[in-house]
Amino acid sequence: MSAPEIPSPNADVRMRGFAQRATVEAATAWIDSVLPAFSALPATQVALSVASGCILATDIISPVNVPGFSRSMMDGFAVRGEDTYGATAYNPLSLRIRGTCLPGKSFPGTLVTGEALRIMTGAPLPAGADAVLPVEQTELDGLQVLARGEVSTGKHVAQVGEDIRADECVLRAGRQLRPQDLGVLSSIGVSQVSVIRPPRVRILITGNELLPAGTPPDGFRIADANGPMLSALVMRDGGEVAASDMILDDPQSIREALLSPAEIILVSGGSSVGVEDHAPRLLAEEGELAIHGIAMRPSSPAGMGRLSGRLVFLLPGNPVSCLCAYDFFAGRAIRALAGRSTAWPYRQIRGTLVRKLVSTVGRVDYARVQVRGDDVEPLAISGASILSSTTRADGFVIVPADSEGYPPGAEVNVFLYG
Ligand code: AMP
Ligand code: MG
Repeated sequence: MSAPEIPSPNADVRMRGFAQRATVEAATAWIDSVLPAFSALPATQVALSVASGCILATDIISPVNVPGFSRSMMDGFAVRGEDTYGATAYNPLSLRIRGTCLPGKSFPGTLVTGEALRIMTGAPLPAGADAVLPVEQTELDGLQVLARGEVSTGKHVAQVGEDIRADECVLRAGRQLRPQDLGVLSSIGVSQVSVIRPPRVRILITGNELLPAGTPPDGFRIADANGPMLSALVMRDGGEVAASDMILDDPQSIREALLSPAEIILVSGGSSVGVEDHAPRLLAEEGELAIHGIAMRPSSPAGMGRLSGRLVFLLPGNPVSCLCAYDFFAGRAIRALAGRSTAWPYRQIRGTLVRKLVSTVGRVDYARVQVRGDDVEPLAISGASILSSTTRADGFVIVPADSEGYPPGAEVNVFLYG
């Protein structure tokens, strides 16, 4: 049985507004200060087929040479290079064709001077041969092949270990695996790799007015826009969405959900100081509400804290605020726990403002802009509830707290959504 929820007037900030707001730097610094305690996620073994994008937990040392044998890099004839010396199109030299070397098989026997073996790309170089004469430089003459050019020793032959040497470190711990890395791992006989287990992220979508994502809006009820957006952001940043659920603005349901098994909890909605905004108080009661209210726009009613080994981010329900607060704070933490860089995951370009971009001193602004070539135009309609401002925009400009904004013609840094 739970005690009745009677907020004490001093502890409860609801409807009083934020007495003061933390700076974006203070909020970021708080995240960075608590991350080390969370950073020891265990490694997990995954098959190569699902390892792309994962963060390697260990160095990978090749147990083998690649290639493990000297092999032909061309279709042509395996020869002793010196047998071709002096050969030209006008003065072809004749070699006796002794047989054929195919990929995957070794040729029995040793090539002797005056002989050639037909050889395919990838086939092991036969004993006695030291070069491959490409088919383009030859002409057939019955059982003989005419060399119409010369090849020196080693020509068109891949040497043992020329790609990867045994005992060489091919990939370092911390690497975010690329598709071609999987090819290299496979080529040295690795079928499973140890990767950092993605942080489990629990998404809680609160709001009595919400209908499940993708439901047609009905009367005064609106469809959840934040659930699908947050799931995609979490996956982009290397987190695993442990669950994403809608819950009512009900203290007991929120309290229980805050205790879900996860490294990170994202609460959408109810993060502010309204009568139905329970999450900040519950977090303060059950754990630590470290930051509540941030000097930024949008997202000022965001908060964050800790609860028994979980990092909790309180994201405002307005979808633009939710996106912005996620990107400034939650995404940073998820990327760090996932072993990735904490830097913004957006490409940056420089551009020139075509209109002024107004901002208020004392808060960080997240201004959506359109980009046309070199021109950067702030969007006129850009309230926190206008989520389509983020789809019409090509990116955003962050105006620092100490700036009043920028005049037309100013050069700005744009983070591109695409
Ligand atoms: P809140 O942060 O709960 O005070 O909500 C602020 C505004 O965002 C209200 O207009 C809510 O209806 C709206 N809102 C809250 N959650 C969502 C959501 N998941 N999707 C779309 N709009 C939301
Ligand atoms: Mg709400």
